[in-house]
Amino acid sequence: MSDLPVVPRRRSWAEPWKVKVVEPVRMTTREHREAAMREAGWNTFLLRSEDVYIDLLTDSGTGAMSDSQWAGMMLGDEAYAGSRNFYNLWEAMTAHYGFKYLVPTHQGRGAENILSKALIKPGDFVPGNMYFTTTRLHQELAGGTFVDVIVPEAHDPRSELPFKGNIDLGALEAVIERVGAERIPYVCLHATVNMAGGQPVSLENARAVRELTARCGIPVYMDATRAVENAYFIQQREPGQGHKRVAEILLEFCALTDGCTMSGKKDPLVNIGGWLAMNDEKVYEEASNLVVVYEGLHTYGGMAGRDMEAMARGIGESVQDDHIRARIGQVEYLGAKLMEWGVPIVRPVGGHAVYLDARAIYPHIPQDQFPAQMLAAQLYLDSGLRAMERGIVSAGRDAATGDHHYPKLELVRLTIPRRVYTQAHMDVTAESVAAVYAERDGTPGLRMVHEPKYLRFFQARFEPLD
Ligand SMILES: *Cc1c(COP(=O)(O)O)cnc(C)c1O
Repeated sequence: MSDLPVVPRRRSWAEPWKVKVVEPVRMTTREHREAAMREAGWNTFLLRSEDVYIDLLTDSGTGAMSDSQWAGMMLGDEAYAGSRNFYNLWEAMTAHYGFKYLVPTHQGRGAENILSKALIKPGDFVPGNMYFTTTRLHQELAGGTFVDVIVPEAHDPRSELPFKGNIDLGALEAVIERVGAERIPYVCLHATVNMAGGQPVSLENARAVRELTARCGIPVYMDATRAVENAYFIQQREPGQGHKRVAEILLEFCALTDGCTMSGKKDPLVNIGGWLAMNDEKVYEEASNLVVVYEGLHTYGGMAGRDMEAMARGIGESVQDDHIRARIGQVEYLGAKLMEWGVPIVRPVGGHAVYLDARAIYPHIPQDQFPAQMLAAQLYLDSGLRAMERGIVSAGRDAATGDHHYPKLELVRLTIPRRVYTQAHMDVTAESVAAVYAERDGTPGLRMVHEPKYLRFFQARFEPLD
């Protein structure tokens, strides 16, 4: 017998950081959680964060900043105009995203509002690879109509296509033919596609979209909130891209577009902030004028100087290969566990979240009894785990008919904050999902008892059906 240790064939990776500050979280009893859920109207958005053990509601603004970012906060130049941190942010954006002009905003939807107002006229159409809640709303409020041109596989949670976020070029061409290029102010390219499960867009597809739209003189604006994660998938999955650094791929991808909107709360590793970027000077002039009306002066756009500094530094950290590999590696770890246990999830696992297929988990609950909403509630009751509905409640109502939109995907999103939780938290999460899945048969649906007019998923209230 040898007492040499066994060297595993597959070596583990670990996070490229260590913990410097801890934030205690509260453990609760089932009784406590039942009372909290009732009070929250069976909507996880209405829970108090204090009552949550592992918070996977969103990866938006929930990440942990680095020591360098915190140090940068002390270097905030809070001048009303021309803060030095604004110029640092501009430089970081141009260095890593490659766009010429920067318009800061308080967060992503502020940028969407400005872009929509600057470019969309009433009666216009905006094709895009699947809707996003706030993006589509701002397009509609500006008088536009969103048209979904994502590949059909994106609506199939079982399709294993590596780039399920791609634009269907035939569908895009058909829209251009049907409504005319002059009524399309821009194509909205999401990379990755949040509502499809964090699915990426290939470099090849972005190039083809660029060629098609350039022929008709239509600009392409990207929703770049998770473009770094998208670049990582290109590195990992697209033939001929594996030798490049994520930062290189990101620049190459952005160069196929005319600008982007950004939520700093995602890839850029800050708790608040956003921006709009572009190469067209005329669009810049219009946007930096509008931003004064809605957000703040064009050198702060609703952010403090210290927030802009933290984001400038966060952008530099976010494009490091080690960071992004560990970030997406954690999501893949959780996804692999759930697949091993037979829980139906969207495949392949996306960049920022694991999406549970509520339609497959609760086939007995009709979609208008909100199966995903109920699944999210059950996870909370089981373990204090907070997740988010991404199904019929999030999809809202058809503006013309007043009926629900009935999305093909009825999902619950387990969203992983950046640099916050350990693998042990992922184990607890997977075990809680497995426990709820085991109890699936008797679970009833919900009835909506309060429905707000805009973005109803944030504030709607429900009651369980008997
Ligand atoms: C979060 C998000 C937005 C909106 O950004 P906010 O900072 O939350 O306003 C837009 N698009 C996508 C894809 C997002 O995930």
